[in-house]
Amino acid sequence: MNDIIDKIILNKEEIDFLNKKIAKYVNDNYENKKPIIIGLLEGCNPFLNDVLKYINIEYDLCYIKASSYLGTKSQGHVNISNIPSVNNRDVIIFDDIIDTGNTLYQVSNKLKENNALSIKMCVLLDKYKNRIVDIQADMVGIKIDSDFVIGYGLDYNGLYRDLPYIGILKKEIYE
Ligand code: 5GP
Ligand code: MG
Repeated sequence: MNDIIDKIILNKEEIDFLNKKIAKYVNDNYENKKPIIIGLLEGCNPFLNDVLKYINIEYDLCYIKASSYLGTKSQGHVNISNIPSVNNRDVIIFDDIIDTGNTLYQVSNKLKENNALSIKMCVLLDKYKNRIVDIQADMVGIKIDSDFVIGYGLDYNGLYRDLPYIGILKKEIYE
């Protein structure tokens, strides 16, 4: 394949198909609700940006910085930046991937404490076998195995976010 990727798991067209599915979920469920869409940085883009192209309801948009990964390992503790005012608003959180569940669990708890009216979670990828916290995303693009993946916003130590596809990082790169 190439020097860093073992296998491509989603190409551009497949990602686009999943983005349309996720946008439809938002369009179908949030008409006249004007939700706040919150992207989790850095990984939510370009995913969220591309999904928004297919969203045709009104919404507000903001971002939270949330990070728990060092290299290819989740650290459990999630650093979360200041969160926006969500009082009495319907919130949709967007993240690239759910893994242990820690990030979405801790971010959604903060939003609950801040009196969000409702909270739903959309992710492109779900590493469903790795869950430590009992939480599910409401809308998942696709379930995947536990391999560490990169591309389309997903990084390895800040690198490879620009790949137009999502692929499994070769183990020899990080082992
Ligand atoms: P969780 O808190 O659910 O364990 O992990 C969620 C966050 O970890 C994601 O927002 C993402 O930043 C990062 N993450 C989890 N799995 C992967 C992966 O396979 N590749 C990359 N690049 N990041 C991941
Ligand atoms: Mg992330």
